[in-house]
Amino acid sequence: MLQETSIPSFNLQSAMAASFMPHSTTTSMAEPAPSTNRLAQNDSYRMPVYSVKSFGVPASSISDTDMISPEIRQNIITGKDVNLNSLLIPNYEILVKKKTSENDDRLMRNLSLDEFIIAFGRFKRIMCSAFPSRGEELELYLAHIVETANIWPYKFFEYHRMFSAKCATMLLQHNLKIDWSKGDFELRQKICAGSKVNSCSFCSSTLHTSAMCRMKTSNQHAKSIANSSKGSDSLGRDIVWHEGRC
Ligand SMILES: [Zn+2]
Repeated sequence: MLQETSIPSFNLQSAMAASFMPHSTTTSMAEPAPSTNRLAQNDSYRMPVYSVKSFGVPASSISDTDMISPEIRQNIITGKDVNLNSLLIPNYEILVKKKTSENDDRLMRNLSLDEFIIAFGRFKRIMCSAFPSRGEELELYLAHIVETANIWPYKFFEYHRMFSAKCATMLLQHNLKIDWSKGDFELRQKICAGSKVNSCSFCSSTLHTSAMCRMKTSNQHAKSIANSSKGSDSLGRDIVWHEGRC
């Protein structure tokens, strides 16, 4: 079991002290390379090293993942059930959450797949900062969720929430680490079965989207032939050709 580490506490004073420590090696003049050139040994030909004034770390070098509160980071790496919605709100504080979570619609919303991918990426980067070996496992879980979302776009997030809660319970109460890479097909079936399925509009398959259907091109081709020849059946309906047949 991972030992609980204390949450670091920094302030402007400690950051300033760390950023502006004098670096004796960088402020000295650059030593010239040994040269046979008589002129190069003259001080007036030396390239001076100017010190660039800095007022801190450039803001652009800080990623969104860094803007997650220490409490949430701690919850991620100790294996608690983390609400991914909170990772989309910069520096969301759990102390605030405890008081207002029931009224906070932002935490109750079902995320879209795009939002899920952003939030889960942050979750994964924090987890991998403590456990680098979990990278592949979480990458496979993300692929499993994307596949689930393609079939059940309105249920995948509920499935993730239940899966995450289940894993946290097993870990914290029974010291069992669940393999995320495989998801939980039984749980997925229970939650997603009966909900509206996103299937291909050409062949009803759930394995690909309409845009990726093999039958799409032949159907469109047949339609364009039908339109150009104004083909219609005895009832006046358009004839749609599929692979050369009606
Ligand atoms: Zn299809």
